[in-house]
Amino acid sequence: MSVNYIEHIGIAVKNLDEAINYYENILGMKCYAVEEVTDQKVKTAFFMVGQTKIELLESIADDGPIAKFIEKKGEGIHHLAFNVDDVAESLKNVEEKGIQLIDKAPRKGAEGLSIGFLHPKSTYGVLTEFCGKPKE
Ligand code: ZN
Repeated sequence: MSVNYIEHIGIAVKNLDEAINYYENILGMKCYAVEEVTDQKVKTAFFMVGQTKIELLESIADDGPIAKFIEKKGEGIHHLAFNVDDVAESLKNVEEKGIQLIDKAPRKGAEGLSIGFLHPKSTYGVLTEFCGKPKE
């Protein structure tokens, strides 16, 4: 398998509108999409920086993964997402090498991409996401 580039950096925030305001009006970046991903109980906002995106994540449920993360660790960097050609194959590949997975099979993420998470226990503390175009 090979990782192509950093697709996005996921950042957990308490208030999406306030965080968007910071990225737009302080850093001068442009939010190009806001999307709810009900599967993950989050509302997301995207900014493009070169070919890498910043993905802001606000929880839309008290029991959602982002709500739990903020409760435990506070706001901040939540995960790192790598672009791969084939998410399913890449997940399988690292699992065979002994990496613990959160997602055994790809699921649907924001922007219609296929995504799958590796467990931070196996990745030196970094919640790692593979993402790429869905395979038919
Ligand atoms: Zn992500």
